[in-house]
Amino acid sequence: MSSHPLIIVGAGPSGVTTALALVHAQPALAGRIVVVEKHHFPREKYCAGALGMRGEKLLLAMDAMPDVPSCPFDGIRFRGLFGQTEARLASIGRVVRRIEFDHALVGIARARGVRVDEGVNVLGLEIESDGVTLKTNRGRYSAGVVVGADGVGSIVRKAMGLPRGDLRAQVLELDTEILEHEKDLSMIDFDAADRDLPGYYWDFPTVVEGQALMCRGAYKLLVDGTDGADLRERFAARLRHMGLSIDRYKNKRYAERGLEVMTAVGKGRLLLVGEAAGIDPATGEGIAQAIEYGTVAGTFVSEALARDTRDIGGAFDAHFRTTRLYRDLRIRERFARHFYGRERESIDRFFVESDAAIHVGCQHFANEPYDGLKLVEAGARAVSHGVGALVERALRGS
Ligand SMILES: Cc1cc2nc3c(=O)[nH]c(=O)nc-3n(C[C@H](O)[C@H](O)[C@H](O)COP(=O)(O)OP(=O)(O)OC[C@H]3O[C@@H](n4cnc5c(N)ncnc54)[C@H](O)[C@@H]3O)c2cc1C
Repeated sequence: MSSHPLIIVGAGPSGVTTALALVHAQPALAGRIVVVEKHHFPREKYCAGALGMRGEKLLLAMDAMPDVPSCPFDGIRFRGLFGQTEARLASIGRVVRRIEFDHALVGIARARGVRVDEGVNVLGLEIESDGVTLKTNRGRYSAGVVVGADGVGSIVRKAMGLPRGDLRAQVLELDTEILEHEKDLSMIDFDAADRDLPGYYWDFPTVVEGQALMCRGAYKLLVDGTDGADLRERFAARLRHMGLSIDRYKNKRYAERGLEVMTAVGKGRLLLVGEAAGIDPATGEGIAQAIEYGTVAGTFVSEALARDTRDIGGAFDAHFRTTRLYRDLRIRERFARHFYGRERESIDRFFVESDAAIHVGCQHFANEPYDGLKLVEAGARAVSHGVGALVERALRGS
């Protein structure tokens, strides 16, 4: 059994971007690292596929953005309890199909010399003083360092002794025909007007095997593990209202995990990225975050591998807490707990009263500089709604 300096478990966007960022910084490492993936590509990943320019730009910077069919969008509409608002920017993001996007990303990594072993299911980890052994359905792999990019059911996370996390979400999605009134296919829609759902519905234009369709879904956050509303029932009612029957379409149900800031993303020889660590619990947005995690981890590891790696995980955790990604996720964690909790009405009013907050949100999604006037307006409104204190507390980490 040969030993590798680094093995990445999972070939989704976080795992493959980790490998890409690593070989971007240290091309000589390309032949020495391995990504193991339990499925064979092209593989389905239940996901609505809305990728913000924030993620796309990171891949472009490494000349690694997959060229796959997509629906670009330049607007976001938000419907809340007290009205609706929308904002437009030249380019906010695109809706991709993960079956195509992830496959193409793996192809790009392979073209840069990264070895990706498909059909390798990691069943357990043995952590020793000088390295880690992965037990898989295809035998054993040995590594100095392991990156867990293995998504919501992460086995690497379990090996770190971490709990599943209490910011978990249930998600249900399906693809339907586009309805008569849905003429503007350059917008994506978030509908948080259902008071009984601690979450929201979405309608994203998409393209499936050349056919224009609408990806619709429902996201329900289980804040502190509490259940409540029946997701399928509520979603079925919304679809009925639109003249659609939930039973006519393939229902795709899955889970998501939001980052809890107190949880470590690395320990000993193990590091976590993407949904294995935790993504945005407010919207369930995870593709751009997965890419950002991968960029942060790949760049960090490219240098840290040359040093003592016995606690590379602890060093990564400390580094992660200095990044923009961490600050962003910390705000979103705090926001999610309040928006889907006691402060929902006041935050909803804050959103729909003007387009300032959603405008800034679009700029963040697109990684564009914030419009100063909109930022000041959003800030002033946030203060008057008590949302400012929330953001401030989140920034302080209290
Ligand atoms: C229904 C739904 C809709 C969503 N819509 C959006 C959206 O529109 N926009 C957005 O930004 N985010 C969305 N998300 C979230 C997004 O899909 C995830 O956050 C994102 O895929 C995380 O990327 P990742 O690389 O960390 O994990 P994943 O994409 O889950 O990849 C993990 C990989 O690890 C592999 N793996 C797992 N266990 C093992 C093992 N033991 N051994 C080997 N390999 C293993 C898996 O097969 C998989 O390929 C959605 C999620 C869901 C469920």
